[in-house]
Amino acid sequence: MNYPIAILLAAPLALAYPAPITAAAAKPNFVIIFCDDMGYGDLACYGHDKTKTPNLDAMAAEGQRWTDFYAAAPVCTPSRAAILTGRLPVRSGMCSTKNRVLFPDSFGGLPASEITLAAVLKGLGYDTMAVGKWHLGHLPQFLPTARGFDHYFGIPYSNDMDKVGKGDNIALAEKGEFQAYNVPLMRDTEIVERPANQHTITRRYAEEAVRFLRSREASKPFFLYLAHNMPHVPLFRSDPFKGKSAAGFYGDVIEEIDWSVGQVVAALKEKALERNTLVFFSSDNGPWLIFKHHGGSAGPLRDGKGCTYDGGMRVPGIFRWPGTIAPAIVRDIGSTLDVFPTFLALAGGKLPGDRTYDGFDLGPVLLKSKPSPRQDMPFYRDETLYAWRHGDFKAHFTTQGAYGEDAKRREQHDPPILYDLRNDVGEQTDIASNHPDILAQIRSLADAHRATVQPVENQLDKRTKPRK
Ligand code: MG
Repeated sequence: MNYPIAILLAAPLALAYPAPITAAAAKPNFVIIFCDDMGYGDLACYGHDKTKTPNLDAMAAEGQRWTDFYAAAPVCTPSRAAILTGRLPVRSGMCSTKNRVLFPDSFGGLPASEITLAAVLKGLGYDTMAVGKWHLGHLPQFLPTARGFDHYFGIPYSNDMDKVGKGDNIALAEKGEFQAYNVPLMRDTEIVERPANQHTITRRYAEEAVRFLRSREASKPFFLYLAHNMPHVPLFRSDPFKGKSAAGFYGDVIEEIDWSVGQVVAALKEKALERNTLVFFSSDNGPWLIFKHHGGSAGPLRDGKGCTYDGGMRVPGIFRWPGTIAPAIVRDIGSTLDVFPTFLALAGGKLPGDRTYDGFDLGPVLLKSKPSPRQDMPFYRDETLYAWRHGDFKAHFTTQGAYGEDAKRREQHDPPILYDLRNDVGEQTDIASNHPDILAQIRSLADAHRATVQPVENQLDKRTKPRK
């Protein structure tokens, strides 16, 4: 009897929220801003009390700021493989205990059989550009221009590689000796500068991104992947940011990245593109804590880069799309693994049906404020599943310190350690003995997941000068 009233009420509500219709009418543009080793606690909008990040704070206030957002791996190469393929790196061979990332003497890379986000978007008519750190293979067949990007400008691996200088990374950075790292700066497939002058690298990446945005035509959708080399050690920043931050050298670096985010948003506004552009900001893994004041902050989380405690993988996650994403703080689980299926769905594409994907379409959360479809998060260290989160609970089957002496302490746990992340974000109090039911559920979820993983050729162990 009440049905007609309900229908009458529903109609004006639908008219008041036209966002999904707008999204379907024209293909949205996508910008990913991906930092290297930025910690969960490094931004003011994630609780840092000294570093000033007004542009990222504004982006968070205007969009969705996720509190429980995870990179797919605790180190660079596997994490980058995951965001660009929507698949766990264990499926592509882009992770290894022996060689945790790619090196300048590596001859592997993201296999040609993997489908990148850039490639699928290109197939849907997008212009594509990669600026910054790549780290999915620096040989010609692996470079961005061979993997779906029209153009590339950046350093193809980590900024601490090709080291020719003597001394530790902190001392060299404090002396400003960028020449100590003979890293190449490339345009498309050519080296245009070596060593790359890292003092100006964040600024030049921002300028390149702005140039790309200013050259856009409204009729052609685009995908810009802006992957900063900073704040990965060794730290560098340009002159206007030297000594600027109350949080020291590291704060200077973060504040320059924040400035660069402001430049990107300003360029979108200037071109009247912001209402049709989804900007996503995140980091590839947690802070590199062994570098102390040159490493970032995981905030309240345990440990940092390299390990499977939350400090290694929980990262900032901010989505901005004015007029389409309603401002909110999202406390559900999300992951960089979800970027591929989410963007592809928003662009009107379909997930390839010939392989296993590990991501979820977050569109309903972004556009309609629905709960996240992601209830689980696997935590891999290299090829091994160390931990699993289901809802608020996280079970550790294996724990191991991030780097140095700590990394030698590898412990198996049976029963697994269990933490309630909602009430114990720092992973301190093992509650396994109180919750055998939850442990059993997590074990069966992890077993079912393991059964989907097939052995593949390892890409990171291919080196001309293998590690002993
Ligand atoms: Mg990294």
